[in-house]
Amino acid sequence: MSYFRTDIRAMAGYAPGQQPGGGIFIKLNTNENPYPCSAKVLTAIGRAAAAGLQRYPDPSASAFRALASVLHKETVAGIGPEWILCGNGSDDLLTIITRALVGTGETLRHTNPSYILYDTLAQIQEAVCQVVDYRKDWSLDQQFTAPDDRLRLAILANPNSPSGTQIEPEQVLKIANALPCPLLVDEAYADFANSDCLSLVAENEKILVTRTLSKSYALAGLRFGYLVAQPQMIEQFSKVKDSYNCDALAIAGATAAIGDQAWLVKTRTAILATRERLTGALAQLGFQCTPSQANFVWCQHPVKPAEALYQRLKADGVLVRYLHYPRWEPGLRISVGTDEQIDALLTLLKRYGLG
Ligand SMILES: *Cc1c(COP(=O)(O)O)cnc(C)c1O
Repeated sequence: MSYFRTDIRAMAGYAPGQQPGGGIFIKLNTNENPYPCSAKVLTAIGRAAAAGLQRYPDPSASAFRALASVLHKETVAGIGPEWILCGNGSDDLLTIITRALVGTGETLRHTNPSYILYDTLAQIQEAVCQVVDYRKDWSLDQQFTAPDDRLRLAILANPNSPSGTQIEPEQVLKIANALPCPLLVDEAYADFANSDCLSLVAENEKILVTRTLSKSYALAGLRFGYLVAQPQMIEQFSKVKDSYNCDALAIAGATAAIGDQAWLVKTRTAILATRERLTGALAQLGFQCTPSQANFVWCQHPVKPAEALYQRLKADGVLVRYLHYPRWEPGLRISVGTDEQIDALLTLLKRYGLG
């Protein structure tokens, strides 16, 4: 296919976790929320649809930004709608940020292991990826803040995937202050964690925080995320986005979702309780589990290879994520499902002779 840019032909492309057709699988592989979203979301989407879709949506999703700035006003000093940029999922924001900051031949830095999409985004930009390994205790090496003339963006998934570990906000602030470039803190899982970095945005314009409604709000199918950053940063990023990057139904649904914080508290409580139960049960079966601040658990078994377990679970109708990163032991990333789904998983693992 000689029509394509050489670098596009050479790249592998991002491979998302499998989305099997049919309902036979118990899906614990892409960190979706196992519970249905707030009923208020469906009502709002129905209303927006009934009003007709012949007009373009609000290009800046003003209704969402207004409500999100109210939601975060206790946390972020001085926040207003002009501190928020909405995206078609937070992946859209990662694309916007990378395109706006990192040019051909320049450098994007991120950690290993982490979200594989960051590599893909750099490759599309013909940028260079610098990968800094976590230490074995999941703290961050000094190398992450090392000076580099071509460095334009550093990305930290926090909590991280697949480890579920968290770098504390005080540490993140130090990292941002030491870096010569903006630091994107990808907080896709922050609603499941004990702390987050949102307040830091007011302290340093180099700190960019992204959130998604895909995980904690159970809206992976709707596609909505947002960036919180200082207004002068948002203004520049806005130039790079598609004019109508969020559709009218998504804006209506997302606004209703963040408006129902009671739903979030209830669902989060259920997921955290199941996460602790899953972690304990896996440990009893001999797994080494990394304590998680997210809605998944990263684990390895000292005798049963992760890939074989993944294949066997899949044959038995349970999908988990098998991941193998350079210089790290392969492992399984298991999303926190409902209690019934986790029981089904544990029953199978016991049947395989573990524990
Ligand atoms: C799921 C995930 C995202 C993507 O979220 P969307 O809003 O669905 O695009 C971003 N970053 C990390 C680390 C994720 O795990």
